[in-house]
Amino acid sequence: MLFTVGRAFSIEAKQQKANSKAKFDAARAGQYILALCMNSEPHVAVVGATGAVGVEMIKTLEKHNFPVGKLTLLASARSVGKKLKFRGEEIPVQELTKSAFEGIDIALFSAGGSISKEFAPVAAQAGSVVIDNSSAFRMDNQVPLVIPEINGGDVKWHKGIIANPNCTTAVTLMALYPLHQAFSVKRIFAASYQAVSGTGAKAIEELKRQVEQIVKGHSVTKEVYPHQIAFNVLPHVDSFLQDGYTKEEMKMQNEGRKIMHHPTFRASVTCVRVPVYRAHSVAVNAEFEKPVTVESARAVLERAPGLRVIDEPAKNAYPLPLYQAEQADCAVGRLRRDCALDNGLAFWVSGDQLLKGAALNAVQIAEELLKSNSGVQDTEPARGIPSVAAGR
Ligand code: NAP
Repeated sequence: MLFTVGRAFSIEAKQQKANSKAKFDAARAGQYILALCMNSEPHVAVVGATGAVGVEMIKTLEKHNFPVGKLTLLASARSVGKKLKFRGEEIPVQELTKSAFEGIDIALFSAGGSISKEFAPVAAQAGSVVIDNSSAFRMDNQVPLVIPEINGGDVKWHKGIIANPNCTTAVTLMALYPLHQAFSVKRIFAASYQAVSGTGAKAIEELKRQVEQIVKGHSVTKEVYPHQIAFNVLPHVDSFLQDGYTKEEMKMQNEGRKIMHHPTFRASVTCVRVPVYRAHSVAVNAEFEKPVTVESARAVLERAPGLRVIDEPAKNAYPLPLYQAEQADCAVGRLRRDCALDNGLAFWVSGDQLLKGAALNAVQIAEELLKSNSGVQDTEPARGIPSVAAGR
């Protein structure tokens, strides 16, 4: 028995199923989870196990020696029959169904927003703690949005679902937050250089295919992006909003406010897809309340957890996505006083978005859960956080 009270909750959930249609009753779930005691060897499920993020989740659980008691792999009916390796064992992929969460303690979701909206509340009602990679719940005031190095303590007020941030936001905040702690950030202007793996496994295939087609002199076929991505850059990530920004671009401000507990933080961002397989980079121009020098910023960044400073321009040393791929830490460089902002600093940050922007961060959240050793404390989320419609 891993989750004594969680299981009691799941029995009650079964009884309620007929009339509640498995709707997430956050307040109720909170009461039960308050009493939960996390087992030291939880039964973990990966939902979307065959996807770009799911595969990295399985690898990260193994690499981090996460004390998995049992691992269940879930994906669509298309993947039933596939097997994925974990600790030398071939684990069969099962179809995601509403009854799949019986006995699951921690459910790592990475199967897209619509799957999360449908199944995460079901999993929470069955007694699992959901760590969700999609944007479905990120701006829900009842759901903590967590980067453990920044606001790990927020996992304590979860009510069954914890959200993982947008990948570009996560990579940016790894450098911005320590600077904010020291100099109080007012606003940023930024442009992202986002790898195709950020769109998922099919987009990695699309870039590979288009490169081959071009090399062979064939015409290019497009399935994922509206334009050719090979040898091109697309100033278009996610869908467009009425004001001309994309949903992805607004995640930096909205999620940044919630994670940093900084409700007046402003971010004007242009998100760009580039023909890089793995690791996102962001050029950031940040304005602070307090004066900032390159030396004082460097001293802060050198002490920041999960971050390396690579900043020796004379030796052509700066973070490169090619070398950030498969690295747990993000890297920051090109530090300079911003010549167009008061108290401004310009920098370039790069990080593997499949890791820090997704799988690694999710496993770190699970580690926080185990550390806190009790699901929830009855504390409130940070105030003044706007609730906005979630994108992908
Ligand atoms: P992906 O490579 O396209 O993988 C999608 C996964 O979802 C696959 O395992 C797929 O299973 C599963 N799936 C799709 N439809 C399903 C269904 N009806 N029932 C059950 N499983 C289903 O996508 P991804 O890049 O890993 O992204 C997954 C999620 O993580 C998305 O919400 C995305 O926004 C988020 N995220 C991604 C990144 C990133 O860098 N890629 C970063 C942060 C967050 P099949 O193989 O069986 O189809």
